[in-house]
Amino acid sequence: ATPESMESVEVFQSEGKGRGLRATRELWAGDVLFAEPSFAAVVFNSLTQLVCHTCFARQPKLQRCGQCKFAHYCDRTCQREGWAEHKGECSAIKKYGQTPNENARLAARVLWRIEREGSSQAEGSLTSLDELEDHVADMPEEDRKELKIDVHNFLDYWPPHSRQFGVEYISHIFGVINCNGFTVSDQRGLQAVGVGLFPNLCLVNHDCWPNCSVILNNGNHAAVNSLFHTQMRIELRALGKISPGEELTVSYVDFLSVGADRRRQLRQQYFFECSCEHCAKGIKDDLMMAVKEEEGKKPPEEVVKEVLEFSQKALEKIEKERSEGNYQEVQHPCPQQITPRPRVQGSRQYQQDFDMALQLVLKEKGVCAAQLVAVPASGDRQKANISHRKLYHPNNAQLGMATMRAGVTHWHAGLIEVGHSMICKAYAILLVTHGPTHPITKDLEAMRMQTEMELRMFQQNEFVYYSMREAALKNQPMKMMAEPTQEAL
Ligand SMILES: [Zn+2]
Ligand SMILES: [Zn+2]
Ligand SMILES: [Zn+2]
Repeated sequence: ATPESMESVEVFQSEGKGRGLRATRELWAGDVLFAEPSFAAVVFNSLTQLVCHTCFARQPKLQRCGQCKFAHYCDRTCQREGWAEHKGECSAIKKYGQTPNENARLAARVLWRIEREGSSQAEGSLTSLDELEDHVADMPEEDRKELKIDVHNFLDYWPPHSRQFGVEYISHIFGVINCNGFTVSDQRGLQAVGVGLFPNLCLVNHDCWPNCSVILNNGNHAAVNSLFHTQMRIELRALGKISPGEELTVSYVDFLSVGADRRRQLRQQYFFECSCEHCAKGIKDDLMMAVKEEEGKKPPEEVVKEVLEFSQKALEKIEKERSEGNYQEVQHPCPQQITPRPRVQGSRQYQQDFDMALQLVLKEKGVCAAQLVAVPASGDRQKANISHRKLYHPNNAQLGMATMRAGVTHWHAGLIEVGHSMICKAYAILLVTHGPTHPITKDLEAMRMQTEMELRMFQQNEFVYYSMREAALKNQPMKMMAEPTQEAL
């Protein structure tokens, strides 16, 4: 398990930020700076029966480890591959009689690996775990108390015959997990399913307008014997041109709130003061706070505040439901409250667009709060109306996903021209942020070809297109077209 290649990056002292990574060669949008398997990773306790403990894929039928009856795997291959990581845990869980929480399980996997390899630095890695920040000293009193309890519980779980580590070192590992733990998602990036530690990634500093983004690739466990077999890993991908010597950055927070809010979150969670250009100059803050004027008048401040707070809550709820996998909830977060009645006497299409935009906003976190086009029930019917294209980096992964969903919604609603164009845009973004082999990019590519074909049909003969569509929707056999299949529509 070594990072695939670290040739494009090097460690350096970043002014005011401590250690950082910079590029050693010129890079372009979509280039992979490095790929890195986790030092250790665990599936959330609550999903132990639903997610494979080796490849983190969500599968309907998993096989249970006969020993501890806790770990689950896709098949023998995944079980065999995960055995070295699971061995210590397997007997410890059996002895302990219960399962400790995720942080303790992750810390234990980290320490067992250090025991096995005699080092906290993976082969080829640019840093050891010992050198990473733990921020234990920066923690508020409350959190430090909790940490003590965690370490105490951990020591009950840790077997006496394993190598013994001091309380301080165990606290350090817990601290590193706290501020550097990376959320691992399922193979389609839809649900958070676990947490892992990726040491090289920990070296990448934050910028609210970053030049890189991280994507998890769950690998391709099914093709064990093929050349393309890969294990779960993260990839650091360039979002645009990067010159040699330039510092590499990712965003630890969503570019969703105004600078002050982002900085507060960074302070509380990561213990630093953001001094990036966007924060320093307040770039785009005005856009986020912008409100559409109606009849030359700006809406009262209280109304704007109310909309923003409401949107923020809705987005938080959506994110929570989504990370817990409650997709039904995500689709209908609060239907009565947000029934948009825009004051536009436009076409029906506009209304449809509006509703879709709203659904989209509600479905996708990563859409600025101010962009929520709806109004609170009691509010004056003003709306904040901003395109998220203006807010986000053109190659932002969230923007790509949002555009994909909008495209699919339009397509399914029969708006093939808009649908296809959005799917193409989303595909272009995901080629950069996710790469061509990622399952979502592959899904998008298939949709792009499908919609392209339908669009051509639409342009040749609108009537035929609509009758086909109707036939497909009614689930009747389509006579004039061999492809696409009914399911595809
Ligand atoms: Zn698996
Ligand atoms: Zn087991
Ligand atoms: Zn910033």
